[in-house]
Amino acid sequence: LCTGRDEVRLAEEASRKYGSPAPTIFSKVVDKSIPADIIYEDEKCLAFRDISPQAPVHFLVIPRIPIPRISEAKDDDLLGHLLVVAKNVAKQESLDEGYRVVINDGKHGSQSVYHLHIHVLGGRQMSWPPG
Ligand code: AMP
Repeated sequence: LCTGRDEVRLAEEASRKYGSPAPTIFSKVVDKSIPADIIYEDEKCLAFRDISPQAPVHFLVIPRIPIPRISEAKDDDLLGHLLVVAKNVAKQESLDEGYRVVINDGKHGSQSVYHLHIHVLGGRQMSWPPG
């Protein structure tokens, strides 16, 4: 789905919009230079299973473009697309009893990978408030 030319275009767009963010491990998931259990992909994003699942189903939805964090995202339609994909993949994963959608931002949000990602967790009862 993503050719070398796409990667150059993505890098140029990222540098224009987000000031050449430092690459993270998720850039390697996007360019497939490390293995990941990818369960959905399209021209703008992909979804893959979290390497350290916190629920029976735990996957991440990430944009191909390396937006560092939700607080730095631009007001375009990409964020909406990521949420639509999150709910479509949740359905694909048969999370019919519901699920939790989480975005961690920055220090107080306990963000560890600075490439925007939506967590989707399901397959067990969640509690509230989160820790
Ligand atoms: P956060 O703390 O919100 O930044 O979440 C980062 C998530 O990425 C954690 O749940 C990690 O387990 C997950 N993660 C880190 N590296 C990988 C990887 N190579 N493949 C899949 N998930 C990963």
